[in-house]
Amino acid sequence: MNIVFVASEVAPFAKTGGLADVCGALPIELARQGHNVAVMMPAYRQVKQSGQPIEPLGVKFDIPIGNKIVRGRLLRSVLPGSDVPIFFVEQDDYFDRPELYRVKGEDYKDNCERFVFFCRAALESIRLLNLPVDVIHCHDWQTGLIPAYLHVEYLHCHGYEQVASLLTIHNMAYQGIFWHWDMLLTGLDWKYFNYNQMEFYGKLNLLKTGIVFADGLTTVSPRYAEEIRTEAFGCGLEGVLEQRGEALSGIINGVDYTIWNPATDPHLADKFSVDNWQIGKPQCKAALQRELGLPESPRTPLIALVGRLADQKGWDLVVEVMRRWVLEMDVQWAILGTGEPFYHEVLGELSRNHPHRVAARLEFSDELAHRIEAGADLFLMPSRYEPCGLNQLYSLKYGTVPVVHATGGLADSVCDATSENLAAGRATGFQFHEPTAVALEQTLRRAIETYWQDSAIWQQLVETGMRQDWSWGTSARHYTEAYHLASQRHREMRERLKTQR
Ligand code: ADP
Repeated sequence: MNIVFVASEVAPFAKTGGLADVCGALPIELARQGHNVAVMMPAYRQVKQSGQPIEPLGVKFDIPIGNKIVRGRLLRSVLPGSDVPIFFVEQDDYFDRPELYRVKGEDYKDNCERFVFFCRAALESIRLLNLPVDVIHCHDWQTGLIPAYLHVEYLHCHGYEQVASLLTIHNMAYQGIFWHWDMLLTGLDWKYFNYNQMEFYGKLNLLKTGIVFADGLTTVSPRYAEEIRTEAFGCGLEGVLEQRGEALSGIINGVDYTIWNPATDPHLADKFSVDNWQIGKPQCKAALQRELGLPESPRTPLIALVGRLADQKGWDLVVEVMRRWVLEMDVQWAILGTGEPFYHEVLGELSRNHPHRVAARLEFSDELAHRIEAGADLFLMPSRYEPCGLNQLYSLKYGTVPVVHATGGLADSVCDATSENLAAGRATGFQFHEPTAVALEQTLRRAIETYWQDSAIWQQLVETGMRQDWSWGTSARHYTEAYHLASQRHREMRERLKTQR
């Protein structure tokens, strides 16, 4: 198939979260499986500073935005390690900025305008470049207008009648909600500003727009696909998602094992695989303890957390347990994260007051993230919700037993160490079901008791996890099915429209 990815971030060119990892890796796997794939994203300042070879294409275009015309240009590169072309929409007034979407905790005021431009520019670029396209794969609210433009403006446009859209939702909490006058920027008729289509409590909602108009919908794990149809996880869009339920499926993200593999990872003190982890992993643990200034103690359980310091990730529960445990439990904590100032303060204080038990590195360090994955015994992810989550997948590969809240992708990828699952040889970690400090503490205790008292079960958990394959191959095949279904639904919709005329 001919697939064009349109996304607001793609690794390694610009990244704020897992979305970039998906859009950097999935196109390469799809190409490997025989599809013709191209990618489009904005030419942010980060893209130009990424150190990747990027060349201008000499293609210019003019885009109507409200009552003005804005000029853009195209740049080109390839996804590293592949032939997959990536095109960058250059418009420096919109994209040459310090951050992608916000600065100093405040969203850019013209975010709607920036992404109206990007969506229109992506469609215009496909036309100008004459890119073959069966499906446009859109991601999150930033590209939510593309399905609407395809439906409203391109459906009867020669050469575009067949083009279907698939929208992947990476996180329901970010919807691209703007005041109603931004509707004028979209160039779409006010008749679409109604509660069945683009309107959301008097405002313009770009994620909702995408959900309503896309031919197919996916999110990043089967459990999250179920959860977002409920009030607790739908962030107000559960009704629309329920209505579009038959078009929605969950496909778990994959891992790039060329980057995340303890047998080849260049950042580690010692490399290891499932066959020799009992030699290599203790070396990595000792090296990590030295690096973090923790006592070098082989039998003290080392619990790791890496991620954004945001409420979503359940840091409040962690801090509550840590405050008790630093006084009484012989465990060590290795923490890597940046985010909300409150958690910087609390975690900084815990590590200053208890340096032999808590090491908090409040920064972004890809290399340290690798060493933590390799050196820790347990990896904790108590997220209140987690569309997919990547660290638990890395942890499985690195023999670091995950302890997770059973939600979203965490529920789908970690199998709880119940006696039944252990007997069946499928257990890989520990799950708790209520997002409370009590449940977290009980489960962490259960994990640590197993670590201390039952080395055979611990070995089984580690090795079952390390043997699993979460590479992109399977996920890419599921996406191929989703593209076919979206195309089929698009054809059916066109047939229906024809018979109505
Ligand atoms: P989300 O997209 O919600 O932030 P994910 O688990 O899907 O969470 O992906 C986050 C990615 O960013 C992971 O690869 C994780 O290791 C990485 N990451 C997050 N914070 C840091 C940090 N402070 N240092 C290094 N890597 C980080």
